[in-house]
This record gives sequence, structure tokens and C-alpha cells, in this order.
Amino acid sequence: MPDPTPRLHSVRPPSGGRVVLVDVRDPGDVPPAPPGDPLPGTVRTVDLRVRLLDENDRRAAENRAFLQQRGIRALNFVSSPGAGKTLLLERTLDTIAGEVRCAVLVGDLETDNDARRLRREGVPVAQITTGGTCHLDASMVARGLAALPLEGVRLLLVENVGNLVCPASFDLGENRRITLLSCTEGEDKPLKYPPIFTSAHAVIVNKIDVAAALGFDRAAALANLRRAAPQAEIFELSARTGEGFDRWLAYLRALL
Ligand code: MG
Ligand code: ZN
Repeated sequence: MPDPTPRLHSVRPPSGGRVVLVDVRDPGDVPPAPPGDPLPGTVRTVDLRVRLLDENDRRAAENRAFLQQRGIRALNFVSSPGAGKTLLLERTLDTIAGEVRCAVLVGDLETDNDARRLRREGVPVAQITTGGTCHLDASMVARGLAALPLEGVRLLLVENVGNLVCPASFDLGENRRITLLSCTEGEDKPLKYPPIFTSAHAVIVNKIDVAAALGFDRAAALANLRRAAPQAEIFELSARTGEGFDRWLAYLRALL
């Protein structure tokens, strides 16, 4: 059951845990337009989107400066829903949080399920509830950062809303964008959804433990990735079994 109580623009302090809830749902949000012929105002919506992205870029630059001042490296994890971002972060934190102080921001339309999974001793976690918004933007991240104790933090892991499309357009101020492609998704995703791959510093091919059972064509997937994301470092791993994790952890350590 959804919580019927509106929690608009609130920050709820942690109670009985370390998850901070940052609710960025906009009370003025207009519900999505119904399908069918375009409504009046469509042209103006395009205008707003351009300005929205300009504004986002400005705020992302502020985030980047804020993080750099504090010596925090930030990673933005993007993928379609169910590609395994949360499990990847869980296993990553299990090792890295013992080496350097980490903080986590998690974006979802609703629930704090992922943030609760990511709680670790000494790791502040904020769940950003976006309501209808299918991506994180730079101002949401700024508010998430403001809600977290960042003293001594060196590594910020941001789990974006599961969505292979518009998170590509929103710079959050991260140092590295990490795109996940899971073996359950099909090898042609990098060709169908190029921007999120072309803008990635690294691509993680996840769930390799079940690749054989799914008939996953590894050679085709890698060829498609090289075509769509020639700039990206590629990691093949399983967040569930830990196979291939050493190289991923070495990449993280090299960033710090
Ligand atoms: Mg998740
Ligand atoms: Zn979106």
C-alpha cells in the first residue's frame, strides 16, 4: 500500500536506521499527458526542456565543485530497472566501505527498499523519492548531499532511477558514469539506447553467472558495446556471485 500521507519536499531524519529520506516530489507536478493527439502547449514544453537542461548543467557544475572541494569522488550508476544496480552497490560497499568512507544516494519513484538494502555500518544513505520523475537531476542530488553527513567521505555512490533513456541527459556532477547492461536484457541494448552508453566512462556487463542459461551472445554484446561506447572501460561480472569483481574494485580504488 502506498503511503497516503503527502510527504512533499521533506527531509525525514533517520529513525531506527541510517536511511535519510529526501522527498523531491513536486506538489505542482502536472500528471503525464494522456495518449492521443498532442495537447496545446507541446511546443512550449520543448522550450522548457532546453532551459531545464541548461539549469541542470549549472547545478551539476555546482555539485562537481562542492564534491571536489571536499575530496569526494562521485559515481553515477545508470541502467534499466532490474539490471542489478543495487546488488552491485551492496557487494561493492561490502569491500570498499571497509577501506574508505562512502556515502550513498539512491533514487526511486517510490519506496526506500534499495536504501535499506544499502545500509552499512558507517555509511550514510539517503533515499531520494522522485514521485513521477524517471531520473535523478542535479538539484535532487544537491538536496540529497545536503541531507547526509559527509565528514570524511571520499566516495559517493549514486544509484540513479532505473531507466535507460533520460538519465543520460542529466549530468549530476559525477566524476564517472557507470552504465550497467545485464545479460538478461539482450545484446542489442547499446544499439537501441545509444546515449546512456556513449556517455558512460565504464560499462558493467552484469549477471554473467546466468549468461549461458539465457543463451546470452557475449561476442555480440561486446561488439555492440565497442561500437556504441568505444570510450568505455568494460567489466564483465556477477554482482551475485562476485565473479569478475576484483577488476571492478581495482578500478574504483584507482579513482580514489
Ligand atoms: Mg535498485
Ligand atoms: Zn526521466
